[in-house]
Amino acid sequence: MSEVRNVIIIGSGPAGYTAGLYNARALLKPLMFAGYMSGGQLMLTSDIENFPGYPEGIGGPEMMMQLREQAERFGLEVHDKNVERIDTSSSPFKVYVEGEEFQSHAIIICTGAEAIWLGAEGESEQKGRGISTCATCDGAFFRDQEVIVVGGGDSAMEEATFLTRFATKVTLIHRRDVFRASKVMYDRALNHPKIEILTFKQVKKWLSDENGLTGAVLEDTQSGEVSEISCSGAFIAIGHKPITGFLEDQIETDDSGYILAKDFTMTSVPGIFAAGDVVDTRYRQAITAAGMGCQAAIDAERWLEDNIH
Ligand code: NAP
Repeated sequence: MSEVRNVIIIGSGPAGYTAGLYNARALLKPLMFAGYMSGGQLMLTSDIENFPGYPEGIGGPEMMMQLREQAERFGLEVHDKNVERIDTSSSPFKVYVEGEEFQSHAIIICTGAEAIWLGAEGESEQKGRGISTCATCDGAFFRDQEVIVVGGGDSAMEEATFLTRFATKVTLIHRRDVFRASKVMYDRALNHPKIEILTFKQVKKWLSDENGLTGAVLEDTQSGEVSEISCSGAFIAIGHKPITGFLEDQIETDDSGYILAKDFTMTSVPGIFAAGDVVDTRYRQAITAAGMGCQAAIDAERWLEDNIH
């Protein structure tokens, strides 16, 4: 049986590393399970221009490496492993990781959210063969080719703008003519000579041949009219869903799976806290996730003082 930890942090985005930094500096010797792909969504982001303190901006992966280094310097122990499940039925809680059992008095969940796919006909066959949810990861494969981006939020604008580095043409497809994207990012895409924006269009079906993606069948969301567009790459940027499956309904979530905060950052289970995109349906920014990670770390520290130590 392993030693009982004060705090186990699950997930390694800005929320997780900030919680780790605070708990490490409070000498709680926190243990983090960072996942196989540590760093979270920001590992897939090119430039972060809206995190205070970086006047020139900073690359997503670079920022995550720096956050990790900073927390490790104060004693955060990080394992790049995925948590399979937790057991909250008794105290200390149990955390199961690749066949091993760990115990902890408190847990901070910072598992974030993952990309949603469209689910259009032919999509699963072309995933990774032309259809992607990450321009930063896959954009360079489409040098001198035509690509499409689906979505009307900041992610879609960011992906479309980023893809102009490689592609000859980027067509942004959105199902309405109202955009959730911030004005600055929308304008950047709108005014880019390589980007064309098609509104009131939905992908109905993906087209492909033996070499990969060749295009898509689009449906007009107002008239129902069907048309075709050719492209060799497609990027889906229609939002994210929270990563909470491993909780197996032990912690209260909303209908979409986002963890519900009950008492500041504490969840429906006393001693279990949550921070970042796994909770946040409203702001979903690196800076707000980091702030919430700090709050969860302080809440966990006070809860340990009041209930355990
Ligand atoms: P989002 O703001 O929720 O936008 C999702 C977009 O996808 C919406 O335009 C939505 O259309 C569309 N959509 C959803 N389901 C669809 C479907 N089945 N078929 C077609 N279209 C669909 O998501 P996001 O762009 O990923 O942004 C999430 C958060 O991260 C936001 O707070 C954003 O500001 C932030 N973010 C910031 C940056 C940055 O500042 N650098 C970059 C990326 C993201 P409807 O509008 O019609 O629902």
